[in-house]
Amino acid sequence: MTEHRNATPESWTGVLAPSEIKPSERAARVRYAIRDVMVVAQQARAAGKRLIPLNIGDPLQFDFPTPEHIIEAVYRAMRAGYNGYAPSLGTEEAIEAIRSEATRQGIRNIQEIMVTYGASEAIESALVSLLNPGENVLLPSPGYPLYEAVLTKLGCEPMPYCLDESNGWQPDLDDMASHINKKTKGIVVIHPNNPTGAVYSKETLRGILDLAARHGLVVFSDEIYSKLLLDPVEFISIASLAPEQPVVTFNGLSKAYLVPGFRIGWAILSGDARSVARYREVLARILRARLSVNHPAQFAIRPALEGSQEHIPQVVEKLRRRRDLTVSILNAVPGVHCVSPQAAFYAFPRLDIARSDTEFVLDLIRETGVIVVPGEGFGQAAGSHHFRLVFLPPEDTLREALEQIGQFARKWK
Ligand code: PLP
Repeated sequence: MTEHRNATPESWTGVLAPSEIKPSERAARVRYAIRDVMVVAQQARAAGKRLIPLNIGDPLQFDFPTPEHIIEAVYRAMRAGYNGYAPSLGTEEAIEAIRSEATRQGIRNIQEIMVTYGASEAIESALVSLLNPGENVLLPSPGYPLYEAVLTKLGCEPMPYCLDESNGWQPDLDDMASHINKKTKGIVVIHPNNPTGAVYSKETLRGILDLAARHGLVVFSDEIYSKLLLDPVEFISIASLAPEQPVVTFNGLSKAYLVPGFRIGWAILSGDARSVARYREVLARILRARLSVNHPAQFAIRPALEGSQEHIPQVVEKLRRRRDLTVSILNAVPGVHCVSPQAAFYAFPRLDIARSDTEFVLDLIRETGVIVVPGEGFGQAAGSHHFRLVFLPPEDTLREALEQIGQFARKWK
């Protein structure tokens, strides 16, 4: 029997009083603005505001139901007993469906296909497998904040390159080149981009590939919105332009197939077999260490990619109308300027304001209950101010939210 067991309850607490658990400095620096605004939103709700969430890109929160055949396939897989662990890189059926899809997009020299917990896990694993602390990767600014969060977690440096608002948010290749140094290992391309909705031309994509080839960099291409094109633009998968270059293409079912909660994504590693061999092996080892992705959910992949695509034009048509409504209402507000997004379901308007966009957004949430995300959370040119909103809600809700934003912006100083 130890001394502790004989002690009184008071002395127990004295002896075992826990010291403060200190989180790692790297992890403590991680920010994810899209959900961070919810703290203020909850306070606004407690104060009686009705919340209109325009912060999270989840179509399932609005009138975009999952196609039946996708749900059915997962249900059947569960009933058929596919409830054990799956192979670490994904089921054969899923991998073959992704391969066929990649081939249709013109991607050749495929060295590995990996099914992951959403594109998010693919992104994290691809970066973890490449980077040592202190190294850096070029990231689009503005861009989806997960990349910066992962780099921060790894003790690596996010190196932002400018997307040019005055040029429809196309990447500025000179700016990109100017940030490459000895510690640069890769370039992230988010295409179509979140938060700007821009789609890139073939020349731009070739320019990025040239830079990457000249400096021996891996290109990471996040194409999760590639099927949600709202304008008659051509979408080109960057890997299709350079079969010999190392490219990791990310995609998944969350957006175009309306199942973000299934957490199904993937990475396609393409390029010269010899040059990517060691990277490929490490990436596969990282994925083996986490066993596998949800087994039944992987059975959604083949029916999604090869079954009826009927819902996609319907989704796109709704989004196009909502995009047009968003851009026209916002651009009618003095001091607000919105480049029309060509794809996805985000707008990234600029604000002519003197104070920070974070202050603007937090006041907006407190006063109106409309939740958007400050531009600071995505990166933006120094001295400029933006916010991101999601235009997924039905038109009446969207109109109400946009009008509230307009009224608020007119009087906010
Ligand atoms: N990449 C981009 C550009 C995104 O916008 C998102 C989600 O919003 C993701 C990746 C994450 O997708 P997933 O749900 O497949 O993890």
